[in-house]
Amino acid sequence: MKTARFHWGEPPWPRGSDLPLNSNLPTPTNPDVAIIGAGLTGTSTALHLARRGIRSVVYEAGQVADGASGRTGGLVLESTAAGPRDAVNTCVSGLERIVAEERIDCNLVLPGCWEIEHHEAPSEKMLPWSDAGQPVCITKNVTGGVVQPMALTMGLARAAIRSGAIIREHSRVTRISFEPEMAIEIGGERITPGHIVIATNAWINALLPDAPPLSSCLTFACATAPLDRAALAAIGLEKGHPVLYDGHAVPMGPHKFRWAGDFRRGVSFRRAG
Ligand SMILES: Cc1cc2nc3c(=O)[nH]c(=O)nc-3n(C[C@H](O)[C@H](O)[C@H](O)COP(=O)(O)OP(=O)(O)OC[C@H]3O[C@@H](n4cnc5c(N)ncnc54)[C@H](O)[C@@H]3O)c2cc1C
Repeated sequence: MKTARFHWGEPPWPRGSDLPLNSNLPTPTNPDVAIIGAGLTGTSTALHLARRGIRSVVYEAGQVADGASGRTGGLVLESTAAGPRDAVNTCVSGLERIVAEERIDCNLVLPGCWEIEHHEAPSEKMLPWSDAGQPVCITKNVTGGVVQPMALTMGLARAAIRSGAIIREHSRVTRISFEPEMAIEIGGERITPGHIVIATNAWINALLPDAPPLSSCLTFACATAPLDRAALAAIGLEKGHPVLYDGHAVPMGPHKFRWAGDFRRGVSFRRAG
């Protein structure tokens, strides 16, 4: 029997090789843009700015992808957690394009994503398992797939650095001020950028206490070790479709589960409030 290993608090995804960080370059005291936070938002912003010739410096409190970006289930979908949004319809194709252009090795596969429900359907739509005694069938195949999110974030960071951005890890921004000029402080260091992008996710209130307070959303997530092809075939997921279910037949809905880029099987339950 395998011994269970617990790494509580560590990202579940392998980090891979270190970044060719350029923190030891002299950092301009007045970059065009200071980006705070190096998750998917911060690294992608740095890359897109650099492609347009705009100098940015990313300040990251820990390491790149230390926040949610290195811990997601890796599900790629067009719509957001809050449902579809007007004019948001090129997320999946945009991700595919940038991964190809920057040659990011992140196991992006886009076979579509199966939406499932708990009822009987024609046999070709049925999955070979039940959930709390209820049958499970595929109702839709929506645009999407899976990605290794740590590798994606690290790849975006590498691409941003290649294009001219500076990424400084272990550089927590401790203060933002607007008078007499816009400035950020990193410990005792003071920077006066032209613009500031706050990409700190839920940590925003720590920097801007006057911002509208965020309400937390509790997520329980767990993942198996990567599953082999035989195990995936036994549960009808050998074609590689992640599975998404937003329903009410389970005690804590909405919940979703999926397999990820390296055949890891994950389940997460989310409850607002
Ligand atoms: C369990 C879980 C599963 C998820 N699954 C999915 C999924 O399957 N698909 C999907 O699309 N989304 C998923 N999400 C959502 C997704 O992870 C986030 O929307 C996304 O990663 C947010 O990226 P970000 O760059 O905005 O934030 P983060 O990745 O959280 O990055 C914020 C960064 O800011 C840094 N920071 C904070 N304060 C400071 C400071 N003062 N100075 C400097 N740096 C600072 C942090 O260290 C962190 O690295 C999931 C989220 C969770 C928690």
